[in-house]
Amino acid sequence: TDIKELLLSRIRDVSDYPEPGVMFKDITPLLADPAAFTALTDALAEITGRTGATKIVGLEARGFILGAPVAVRAGVGFIPVRKAGKLPGATLRQAYDLEYGSAEIEVHAEDLTGGDRVLVVDDVLATGGTAEASLELIRRAGAQVAGVAVLMELAFLNGRARLEPALDGAPLEAL
Ligand code: 5GP
Repeated sequence: TDIKELLLSRIRDVSDYPEPGVMFKDITPLLADPAAFTALTDALAEITGRTGATKIVGLEARGFILGAPVAVRAGVGFIPVRKAGKLPGATLRQAYDLEYGSAEIEVHAEDLTGGDRVLVVDDVLATGGTAEASLELIRRAGAQVAGVAVLMELAFLNGRARLEPALDGAPLEAL
């Protein structure tokens, strides 16, 4: 479709970043193009409405850049999920496995409540570990998962399969 081509044309492949052998998908050209950034925001806002989400969770850091305008456009709240140690208040913390070692993410416990239906927004779904941990946080906070929406899915890393149990029937939408 037209929007898919527009978005793809604004993503830059950077080889050997952050380490040799990795092809990094750089979204900064898309952010710099107002037509593409607006089209992306509108598409993610449409998913927000369609899934009945009442809150957007954005994953640090590019999920903040994408998720915040989507929340404003869709008329829902925005909640940052951050790397451990960055949020000042009382948090819920979730660990997840990386290729080597592990990482932890956090959310302010009081910002997610039982009545919320939450859509997780990020730029790239790679192994799915970060998104999976964010769904655990949402459920532990007592909120419902509306789905996960990303700009791009790196299908060869099989993140969709890893995420499936945690989605529990909610959609994973990759534009
Ligand atoms: P995962 O947990 O799915 O393996 O990794 C996803 C996280 O790493 C996302 O927050 C995403 O921003 C980042 N990430 C992994 N690979 C890429 C990439 O090629 N491009 C960009 N922009 N982000 C990536």
